[in-house]
Amino acid sequence: MVKELGVAYYGNVFPDHARIDLEEMARHGCNSVLIAMSEYDWEVWRKNIMKIAHIAKEEFNFNVYLNFWSWGGIFGGEAPSFFLHKNTDFRQVKSISNKRGTHDKVAAVCFNTSEFKNYLFKAIKNVCKYEFIDGFFWDEPHFYYLPKSAISFTCRCDTCQKLFKQEYNREMPVKLDNDVIKFKENSIIKFLKDLSLKIKEISPSKKIIVCLNPPPLESGISDWDNFVYSLKDVIDVFASDPYWLLFGKSLNYVEKFTEKTVSIAKKYGINSQLWCLGFLVQRKKELELKEAIKIFDKYNVDSIFTWCFRGAEGMSLSCSNPKKVWDVIGDVYNELKRKYHL
Ligand SMILES: [Zn+2]
Repeated sequence: MVKELGVAYYGNVFPDHARIDLEEMARHGCNSVLIAMSEYDWEVWRKNIMKIAHIAKEEFNFNVYLNFWSWGGIFGGEAPSFFLHKNTDFRQVKSISNKRGTHDKVAAVCFNTSEFKNYLFKAIKNVCKYEFIDGFFWDEPHFYYLPKSAISFTCRCDTCQKLFKQEYNREMPVKLDNDVIKFKENSIIKFLKDLSLKIKEISPSKKIIVCLNPPPLESGISDWDNFVYSLKDVIDVFASDPYWLLFGKSLNYVEKFTEKTVSIAKKYGINSQLWCLGFLVQRKKELELKEAIKIFDKYNVDSIFTWCFRGAEGMSLSCSNPKKVWDVIGDVYNELKRKYHL
């Protein structure tokens, strides 16, 4: 049974404007919001972002989640990272240099960097103080997306080489093999486990959601079952975002990953969440969004979200007809709202 209907929200930092937007979300059937907070928002606009979250909870009674949007370049999103800007030494390193031996580093922090983890711990500790934040969202944690044709992988930085050698008793190879695949997977799991444990230690009632992006994007996590099994004691919700139109896929793709997400979540006794595409939607494809959300409902998902508010109107990721997308979302959300008395 669907209990939550929400959207991702970002790009505005003024609480009075946010109030108008939250009213609009409520009219579109939402009872939840995910605030996508970039490092820039955190460093520069923190006070106002927290005021917006407070309004969403106090005035609209929304479930309010916080997303460390694009932090370190290892979570999903377009926002740049202060941490990477200031700490180029902690970037992921490609296993094979290009011909000139340059550009080995990519714009994403290594998962095994304790400095980055401490940077996040500090922010987590601060956010945990706010009672109106219901939970945290680990958004598409992934190693840097290299092109499919790349013979290189990331990360083969000094720290990763050292850790790999300790674990496998051999040098880390420059070409991907099964040990490297496992090592990368475990690096992401360990990273998320440490962050989640920190939250549960400070504020056990805060929910933790982790969202994996399905293939063809290569996050570094191929075994979803083992991933959720490894984190089941520290996370509350398993999510995925089968954005079919981005990859020229049909709704069968949505159904396949909805079934997979819900069944793995159920297997490990946690809730499920599915994300509907609400950006870069091409003209005349808008009604497919309704079908995708109906598929989520058919599989009894607990929570449905759409990325993002108003069909990404005005953004580089805008839908061809953002207003139509937003209206379609509003119609189907309001149908579900009535169906489940939300
Ligand atoms: Zn590394």
